[in-house]
Amino acid sequence: MTDDGLTPGLATARAGVGSVVAREYRHRECGGLTRIEGYAFLVLANPFSCVTPTWCRECRRFAPLDELEWADTGEDLASYRDRLLVAAPFGRRCLLAFSGVLAGALAGLVVGLPLGLLAWDASWWPWARDFVNVFFVMTGGIVGGERAFTLFRPWRARWLFHLLGVIAGCSVGWLTWMNLYWAPAGVAAPVALAFCGGWMGASFTAPLMKLAWGSDYRGER
Ligand SMILES: [Zn+2]
Repeated sequence: MTDDGLTPGLATARAGVGSVVAREYRHRECGGLTRIEGYAFLVLANPFSCVTPTWCRECRRFAPLDELEWADTGEDLASYRDRLLVAAPFGRRCLLAFSGVLAGALAGLVVGLPLGLLAWDASWWPWARDFVNVFFVMTGGIVGGERAFTLFRPWRARWLFHLLGVIAGCSVGWLTWMNLYWAPAGVAAPVALAFCGGWMGASFTAPLMKLAWGSDYRGER
């Protein structure tokens, strides 16, 4: 991966690091300004992170991103994030969107290995494994759905992709459980932690991208 080719405009984003520490957005309904900085700014400005409705300081409530606009450019936050997402080539978009999930899953697997050795002959496993499938299917579905929506949200067919992501994630969870059914608890424990890690890792996409590639969107206009 080339240093300057990760995302278009990344050079500008990098040049802006350190100088752009905060930005203001305006709520179109009330006209109130809210200043965002620090970790929340890192996540909001990164188009690969999952962002839910964002706080308006004036109304003291959360407002959808398309009702908020950057005070300096007037572009609404939803369009801004979609524009930056579409600017990245498809393959790279997939890689970046799933980087947090993969890193989290790997970390969970590594952390789970010693735990697996301790739990190798767990006596509860033969009856517990009948219920563990709920955890695998649910986690897979949540992660698959959320990431698919993040990847495809600029497109009209985003709900279809969201649904496909949920189905794909549930299938991965179900297949994993089927394959672990006759395995000892020691094998199942690290895999379960990998699922937990993947779930949590999705939330750390923006800081991971900054850490691994120096990709910081806070300077992007
Ligand atoms: Zn408001």
